[in-house]
Amino acid sequence: MAAAEFCTGKPLPSRLDCRMRSLLGWALLAALAAPSAPVAAQSNAERVANDSYTRSHDYDLLHQRIEVRNFDWDSTSLDGRVTTSLVALRPGLDSVILDAGRGLTVTRVVDARGTTLKSAAHGDTLVVYPARPVAFHDTLRFSIEYHARIDNGRGLTFIEPEGREHRPQQIWSQGEDENNHFWFPTYDFPNDKMTWELAATVPRQYTVVSNGRLVADRRNPDGTHTVTWRQDPGSATYLVSLIVAPLVRLADKWRGVPVDYYVYRADSSRARRLFGVTPDMIEVYSRLTGVRYPWAKYAQTTVADFFGGMENVSATTLVDWLPDERAYLDRPWYQWILIPHELAHQWFGDYVTCRSWSDIWLNESFATYFQAMWDEHHLGHDDFLYLDVKGNQDQYYTAWKAGSRRPIVTKNYASPDSVFDTYAYPRGGAVLHMLRTWLGEDNWWRAINHYLTKYANQPVDTEQFRIAIEEATGQSMDWFFDEWLYRMGHPIFQITKSYDAAAKKLTLTVKQTQKPDPDWQYPQVGLFQTPVDIEIVTSSGPRIERVNIEAREEQSFTLAADSEPLLVNFDYGNTLIKQVEFNKPTAELMYQASRDQDVMGRMWALGQLADGAHHSRKSLVVGRSLQHDVIVASTRMTAIHGATQRISPEAGGLSHIGGPAVNQQGAEPRMVHIDSLR
Ligand SMILES: [Zn+2]
Repeated sequence: MAAAEFCTGKPLPSRLDCRMRSLLGWALLAALAAPSAPVAAQSNAERVANDSYTRSHDYDLLHQRIEVRNFDWDSTSLDGRVTTSLVALRPGLDSVILDAGRGLTVTRVVDARGTTLKSAAHGDTLVVYPARPVAFHDTLRFSIEYHARIDNGRGLTFIEPEGREHRPQQIWSQGEDENNHFWFPTYDFPNDKMTWELAATVPRQYTVVSNGRLVADRRNPDGTHTVTWRQDPGSATYLVSLIVAPLVRLADKWRGVPVDYYVYRADSSRARRLFGVTPDMIEVYSRLTGVRYPWAKYAQTTVADFFGGMENVSATTLVDWLPDERAYLDRPWYQWILIPHELAHQWFGDYVTCRSWSDIWLNESFATYFQAMWDEHHLGHDDFLYLDVKGNQDQYYTAWKAGSRRPIVTKNYASPDSVFDTYAYPRGGAVLHMLRTWLGEDNWWRAINHYLTKYANQPVDTEQFRIAIEEATGQSMDWFFDEWLYRMGHPIFQITKSYDAAAKKLTLTVKQTQKPDPDWQYPQVGLFQTPVDIEIVTSSGPRIERVNIEAREEQSFTLAADSEPLLVNFDYGNTLIKQVEFNKPTAELMYQASRDQDVMGRMWALGQLADGAHHSRKSLVVGRSLQHDVIVASTRMTAIHGATQRISPEAGGLSHIGGPAVNQQGAEPRMVHIDSLR
């Protein structure tokens, strides 16, 4: 799931307020948000009640056929019949507990033999009593007929037309995290997967988009049609999607798989340019993961008042703010972030699905990082490091400074909604980049492929991902998961260096100065152990050496250097989430700003020069002037090249200073990232 910026001014359903997150605007949101104090210690009962723990269930949901009809916009209601097949997971199953919103009025429950079954509603729960207890591993099938009055925006959103072409009457669903049971009875937690059919009867002028493949579209004599979709293989119930709207379908294809874009007729001329990049993305993600796109089709459908994007399996829902010519500059996030993020979820979230909301990073951090790797593919490695890796790190630092602090994986949170935050998205994305760097390319991709293949169509938790890495590569990542997933914090390094010309040795002293906060109840890392890549440039050229920092307050490394280093770059590529204090002479900073082969080293040196706190007036002026040049150049490039959607060849002339900053295509991320130079 990804939330867009809130620049629309359109009203949004109030329940979505907490989802008003922006992938680009995390920093802003974090700054605006009141510091989130750690959740008070919770009892086990409270954690069960608020779904922090994986939920227990004494049946395995196999399949649901969901039939919905008689949609009424005035009363926001519908009629439904849901036929459920399940297998008992305990002997003598004598009651089936389903999630069913209190707005659902059950009129009849019958089993496969036509026997009427007793049922009882308790709040948002429906209990169905089988005619006789179901033996362990036996199957039970029953149908529930009901009338649903929807609290508009909970599970389903009914949009009233405003008499203009671009805002037709429509309905869309939003299941994540636990909202689909407000429009059909189901098991509304991600640790059980099922196959499903969805048959919607609607007036003939409306299109129905849902998951999986189109099975039937039958015309009825009363002017309606019944459209049936079937999702198989199965996935989690929060991914069941229904969209009813007057839409046109633009058909595309990837290797024989239908790739469809559903938009309002008024948007059809702009849609192909926007979405046409999708088959190429599917190709890249299939190739990178080694897992072919796993679903029968891929649809992207735009709807009104949506908060951004939602990765409903094989049928992503997106906000209807299709960029026009100007908006390609103002809101490049749509093509750059929204489309690749939701597509990546088709593997991470839909194919393998977090077992509980505690493990939501297995969905969101992976979608964040695969969107970043799409940038790496089409913009290049430098832009990826600068835009995405640093961007993710910066959003985390901002949240951290604002007091939003937790481990990525924790059972200690107030509600499932609250874990869709900086830690699930950018911080997790930054952690995955570290993991990839320390594992190396071969091991990383082998681990990703093994994880996806082994747990295909299953719910997963963080330990299963860790073990998949170990199985695929032999590398135990216990220490890494302990530091970066189960505990919070980051190292603060103080680096000093000295050179012994006679011995031709460089000595680096690394101090860790971070201090755990005694008032914070989450587990914290005291001292970090981590590899780090050191780049040493001497008159004979650059060299990169990986050293292992131990969990000690101070450690020294002695490294060979055939002449006095022209520059020493601690953490080549800026892999680590960290703060670093490394005072260098102005001459070295000047050299690094212009000559370091590492774009992140160049940008860091530039920042140090511009900072001016520790440097002469001259270096301050030079540094600011360099930075000014980058800003001016990038602004100019925006004007010249932003609308062309191409990377400017002229930008290469400046890339030795600020490559990524001047190479970006759209106005917004460029300025966001220029800001972070300061
Ligand atoms: Zn997402």
